[in-house]
Amino acid sequence: LLALEDVGKHYRLPRLKGEASSLRALDGVGLEVHRGQTLAIVGESGSGKSTILRIALGLEKPDRGRVLFDGEDVTGFGWRQFRPLRRRMQLVQQNPFAALDPRFSIFDSIVEPLVSFGLAKGRELEVAARRLIDRVRLPTAYLDRLPRELSGGQRQRVAIARALALQPDLLLLDEPVSALDVSVQAQILDLLDELQHELGVAYVLVSHDLAVVGSIAHRVLVLNKGRVVEQGPTGQVFERPASDYTRELLDAIP
Ligand code: ATP
Ligand code: MG
Repeated sequence: LLALEDVGKHYRLPRLKGEASSLRALDGVGLEVHRGQTLAIVGESGSGKSTILRIALGLEKPDRGRVLFDGEDVTGFGWRQFRPLRRRMQLVQQNPFAALDPRFSIFDSIVEPLVSFGLAKGRELEVAARRLIDRVRLPTAYLDRLPRELSGGQRQRVAIARALALQPDLLLLDEPVSALDVSVQAQILDLLDELQHELGVAYVLVSHDLAVVGSIAHRVLVLNKGRVVEQGPTGQVFERPASDYTRELLDAIP
């Protein structure tokens, strides 16, 4: 579904005396996400995880390598060409408290993608909103609430419902549970797992925590300082890690 081939990315830095003028955020990154499956990207803060997501979404251009969606090379696509792809790929952000506009009701937040793509109006929006809130196991009555009237876990459910509004093939989940406490983390991961079985949606699940991803990922990619340290089926990476770096991450799991 989505593939990155040998992707490299530098960021320019302000010129400071005696310091490098650019930062290598990604170096030779290759990955593949298959339909209906989950690829977890695990790495420390600053390892380049969010940069991979921004490149997949076309928000940043790699300075080397290719991005393929459904086998099509989309690396050079401009904003307009990318628009149809944005319907098929949705980002769920790190912080559920920042992801929803505090002024809008849950109903407005959930149906906003349908409105902005001109896909539904009036009654259709109400039907869609009910279906979506039901999908993420929240009561219909919550549609009339404001974000501040919901807990963190409930807000993340709303953010997921909103991301599903356009029936995407792929969700890019940037630390979807790191702002939540552990018992709520497990509930959201269970929900994501169920939704994948129901809808066949693929995930790229970004996390700094190997323990979080182990439960739902089919494949794991370990990133360190912009480079892929190893990647493979989850069981293999957990049981027979190929690198010392991965072994250290695994040892840190309580
Ligand atoms: P975190 O877990 O903290 O979210 P991350 O793995 O998502 O980290 P990225 O946000 O991808 O890391 O950043 C990778 C590197 O690129 C970091 O060193 C960061 O400082 C740098 N970087 C990211 N965005 C920019 C930018 N717009 N300009 C300059 N440097 C950037
Ligand atoms: Mg990040």
